[in-house]
Amino acid sequence: MKFKLSHYNIVTDSLSDEQSESTKRVLFATRTAKSMVITNRLYDKLQREAWDELAPNDFDKLLAIEAIVPQSEVEVKTIIERNQAKIKDDKSLYQVIQPTAMCQLGCGYCGQKHSKNQIGEIASERILERVESKFAFKEYNHLSIAWFGSEPLVGLAQIRDLTPKFKEMAQRHNCTYDSKVVTNGLSLKEHIFVELVKKHGVTKIEVTLDGTAEYHDARRHTKAGLSTFNLIFKNLLDIFNRPDFKTLGCTISIRCNVDERNSMSVVPLIEFLAAHNLQDKIEYFYVAPIHSWGNEAHLLSHEKEEFAKNEIDWILAQYQNGFRPGFLPGIKPVVCLSVTPDSEVFDAFGNVFDCTETPYVDVYANTEYVLGNVHNGLSTISKHRPLLSFNDEVANNEYPCSTCKMLPVCGGGCPKSWREGIVACPSNKFNIKEKLMLFYALKKKGVEALAQVYE
Ligand code: SF4
Ligand code: SF4
Repeated sequence: MKFKLSHYNIVTDSLSDEQSESTKRVLFATRTAKSMVITNRLYDKLQREAWDELAPNDFDKLLAIEAIVPQSEVEVKTIIERNQAKIKDDKSLYQVIQPTAMCQLGCGYCGQKHSKNQIGEIASERILERVESKFAFKEYNHLSIAWFGSEPLVGLAQIRDLTPKFKEMAQRHNCTYDSKVVTNGLSLKEHIFVELVKKHGVTKIEVTLDGTAEYHDARRHTKAGLSTFNLIFKNLLDIFNRPDFKTLGCTISIRCNVDERNSMSVVPLIEFLAAHNLQDKIEYFYVAPIHSWGNEAHLLSHEKEEFAKNEIDWILAQYQNGFRPGFLPGIKPVVCLSVTPDSEVFDAFGNVFDCTETPYVDVYANTEYVLGNVHNGLSTISKHRPLLSFNDEVANNEYPCSTCKMLPVCGGGCPKSWREGIVACPSNKFNIKEKLMLFYALKKKGVEALAQVYE
């Protein structure tokens, strides 16, 4: 069989190795998200595709991580086929429910329009019926419900009402059940946390802190302009400091949304969390650029390259403060729920969507993103899902993802963004080589070396 070097390899520049006095590189095969440290000599042979000069062991390893592939393979086709097979074979049914249209906060960058509406009795029944109907078409082994906002804990009554019904549905179909909550954290009192975990099967919670109090409160204040950081942080501390926190089986991650107005507050926030000894309690801390909500919020975001550069510093700051975040991407065959035919998003009015960012946003009302409304009868919900064809569009060269080396570990960013003409590339696209250098430093010299990589 004839071979070629995979298109999906990222290779760092030369890294000097004091111990062996040789120069090396890190090769990251994005097809498998596996990395291999190679010598410059091996790199030269790979560049020349001089397979007969490779040690059999090296050849086998490179073949195993798919850094070398059969010459006849059309690789982008393989990646898209794998993505589509993963979607088809996935036995987990994932649904997003937004139990209320209300949120206590008035974040300046939020594009949602909030109101006091909550999922009513009739909509609840229809949503249950809609989810139930999906079991007729595919055999699942897991049901996963994500409670999103507005602020889902304002809709706690709906969570209380719907959870036992979803659990019963899962049991009837021999499925396991779990759920997650994405919350601003204001109502996440300790007893509510315990209830969510023990009664409502919540295994993951994500809370947003946009920096230290000064920065967070300037952005994530209540609708009346009141500060929220101290209240949210007290809730978190009460939960994290429970002696049984680790054994309850629910992780809490912290997300920090940044644009140019608060990016300077990320490191102080990391230091603040570390000062409260939360390194082993927080599951994952990550920083996300503000995205477009059909508004102009993303325009204040750092340029992507700038964000990617800052992200390296934020990873280093986490290591310096005792956090141990992973930073190399894994393979991502399913970019988000919009490319899965069975996942849906239900809002408090009974509207059905195929994307989590479109409910409660005026510019998306009366667009094809609204698939229908459960009040109008389930048969009226459109079968056409505007973003479902994304993988085919990538295969048809409609986006830069078609030729991008990051496709296997990215999946294509955000389908909706590409549709709107917004470049959807995540930070990995711009800082993957720096991350591979961090990986090398970590592997060679341990945690302490990370801070010295960029000296
Ligand atoms: S299309 Fe984009 S905005 Fe919508 S759910 Fe997917 S990633 Fe999120
Ligand atoms: S979104 Fe960007 S990084 Fe991801 S595959 Fe597409 S072009 Fe590459």
